[in-house]
Amino acid sequence: MIDIAGEKLSPEDYLSDVRPVWCPGCGHYFVLRALTQALAWLRIPNEQIGLVTGIGCSSRISAYVDAYGFHGVHGRALALGAGLKAVRPDMDVIVAGGDGDGYSIGGNHFLHACRRNMDLTYIVMDNEVYGMTKGQPSPTTEPDWQSKLAPEGTGIRRFNPLGIALASGASFIARGSAGDQKGLSRLIVEAIEHKGFSLVEIKTPCVTFRPEEKAWYKRMRKITIEPTDDMILAAQRIHGSDGFDTGIFYQADLPVFQPHFTEEKSIEDFEKEFEV
Ligand code: SF4
Ligand code: MG
Repeated sequence: MIDIAGEKLSPEDYLSDVRPVWCPGCGHYFVLRALTQALAWLRIPNEQIGLVTGIGCSSRISAYVDAYGFHGVHGRALALGAGLKAVRPDMDVIVAGGDGDGYSIGGNHFLHACRRNMDLTYIVMDNEVYGMTKGQPSPTTEPDWQSKLAPEGTGIRRFNPLGIALASGASFIARGSAGDQKGLSRLIVEAIEHKGFSLVEIKTPCVTFRPEEKAWYKRMRKITIEPTDDMILAAQRIHGSDGFDTGIFYQADLPVFQPHFTEEKSIEDFEKEFEV
């Protein structure tokens, strides 16, 4: 931990001693850089950050950031993050993971996290594939992508994370690109600063199992979308986009759910009641 008083912080101040083991060229390196840059800009003390992740290549990120971290249960990161925020509302709770972890195994948690609108930041590193388990199609994979594991493609329409977040009640919905690190840092800053559930969906190439995605580094457009609180306009932008636009598609001031532990019933009382 570092003493931030009077210091100018750098992304390195938020890196742990654990060396990333992602494949060379993996987009997740740029996401790690963008996240640590955002934390440095915001000057959040390391011990005030809770970084909760699921399972998958991208979920390793909690080991690489110098903060309180939990890397543990496939698809359950949002539930754990919500629990942490419930008892430590003073902390900045960031939840992170991949498209398979968040939209398939954790799909139900995603819907209800949007609906609750707790003050959480959810970073999804979407590479349209299960990377860690060697290249199965994920919910965001296009139906005709042919691979060893799905030689004919899946034939199943894709999950639309931004559209589903909007319909489910999220109050901040953004898409960023690993290829635009500065723009991505800004989106993460805005997401952390926003009061409510913030989705930052990041297109980040899996260069090992989907090498064609390297084209995203050039193809994704730098911040093209400015925030609106008009749901109809946001829906038009989300469904009208070809998927290569980045920016904040929707941001609104909506009621934020935060459980309250009163003096009459404190967290200690709950611990006694549930014997934890
Ligand atoms: Fe990144 Fe894909 Fe390698 Fe996983 S398998 S570290 S997602 S390039
Ligand atoms: Mg993935």
